Amino acid sequence: MSGFRDRARTALADPLLQKALRNVPRGFIAKRAKAKAALPEFEQLREEASALKAFTLDNLDTFLATFVERAQTSGAKVHFASNTEEANRIVIDILKKAGVHLVAKGKSMISEETELNTALQRAGMEMVETDLGEYIIQLRDEKPSHIVAPAIHLSRREIEPAFRQAHTELPSDRQLVEKEDFVAEARSILREKFRTADAGITGANLLIAETGSTVLVTNEGNGDLSSTLPRIHVVLASIEKVVPTLEDATTILRLLARSATGQEITSYTSFFTGPRRPGDVDGPEEMHIVLLDNGRSEILAGPFSDILKCIRCGACLNHCPVFGAVGGHAYGGVYPGPMGEVLAPALHGIGKVSDIVDACTMCGRCAEVCPMGIPLPSLIRRWRMEAFRQAQVSPVQRLGLKVWAWLARHPHLYALAMRIAMPLLKFALRWKELLRRIPGLSAWMAERELPPPQGRTFTAMWKAARRKRP
Ligand code: SF4
Repeated sequence: MSGFRDRARTALADPLLQKALRNVPRGFIAKRAKAKAALPEFEQLREEASALKAFTLDNLDTFLATFVERAQTSGAKVHFASNTEEANRIVIDILKKAGVHLVAKGKSMISEETELNTALQRAGMEMVETDLGEYIIQLRDEKPSHIVAPAIHLSRREIEPAFRQAHTELPSDRQLVEKEDFVAEARSILREKFRTADAGITGANLLIAETGSTVLVTNEGNGDLSSTLPRIHVVLASIEKVVPTLEDATTILRLLARSATGQEITSYTSFFTGPRRPGDVDGPEEMHIVLLDNGRSEILAGPFSDILKCIRCGACLNHCPVFGAVGGHAYGGVYPGPMGEVLAPALHGIGKVSDIVDACTMCGRCAEVCPMGIPLPSLIRRWRMEAFRQAQVSPVQRLGLKVWAWLARHPHLYALAMRIAMPLLKFALRWKELLRRIPGLSAWMAERELPPPQGRTFTAMWKAARRKRP
């Protein structure tokens, strides 16, 4: 199996992907900046949201118990799944018992984590993704490359063949050029699926303990159609999505849309509280909520618990220079970008994904924009330390780090080493082309200029400045 470096190399050499990735700053960064500027209390909201999430996580058992009790009172059935296999088994059992053949599915990162689509297909059920981006990648048999915009890596030119191949019932000479052509075609196909689906599966952006409600935000309304038209509605969510009150949910919702898409609020923000009641004009006959743990209880008790504050807005991905260069598939898992670099090792173990924690320049932009104040670079750095501790880094890198750490703990020797290294480096850099051929240096120097050291060392300047101080 290829690692991050190989996948990144492939991504960098893909001109269509590179063109598609240029939309990330245009589409997301500018819109978020505008939305933030229009909300003077953004920073205050950020602090409030981070504090309320920290408080909720500290009391997660209490709020989860309240959520379950209130959801059950409203008529929903709540199920707990300790891992991904159990979650899929519970969902499939619910659907089989209800005689479901066709499932309309809303966007859900948790279902990506559990690989629910594959499990449903194995169980012999037809499942249709109803979020446009998810529908596109389902037709192309791909994984999402972004947690908010799953098909951001694709251009219309790449999507067109997938539509023509899948929608053979439509005239072959139809026009598929503009964005509107694709949206209209997908809508016409999906309307029929919504109408005939026996069950709808959605995720949840939040779970409200106070009311037992699940909250779903979308811009296409597909989540509402998936949850209200079919007989059965299954919500698949992870346990950390719970917040204490409706008021708390609105605090987070004010940050979510602005951080994700630069909107004040998403086009559809829906609250689901139990199945259809007597007198309701629509709604499912049964509502099930499957709460997935999958290692989150352990994460909660450890040094990476801050990542459980994540509301999946995608802002850290959009502002990450590494994500912007290689896209989401290079990370090789469900969660890409800075949040993925913290969450993926926490879920799967650093031994399985140690290469992705190197996909960070420590520029700090992710932490600056994270609406939940998650210290992403510090957490990534901590995973690097863990990778080093567990011997997940190459022997050469390990030796280099050990030598550097030893020198850093012996300042006099460090200063001496720097004094010797500077003229040597200056001398060696006269033969840059030769240096570029040295294994270990060649990759680093391929894309970078290494200017010769100038003047005195930092330590020498610092000592001189100290001597001048009164
Ligand atoms: S880590 Fe922060 S910025 Fe990244 S997706 Fe989560 S909430 Fe958004």
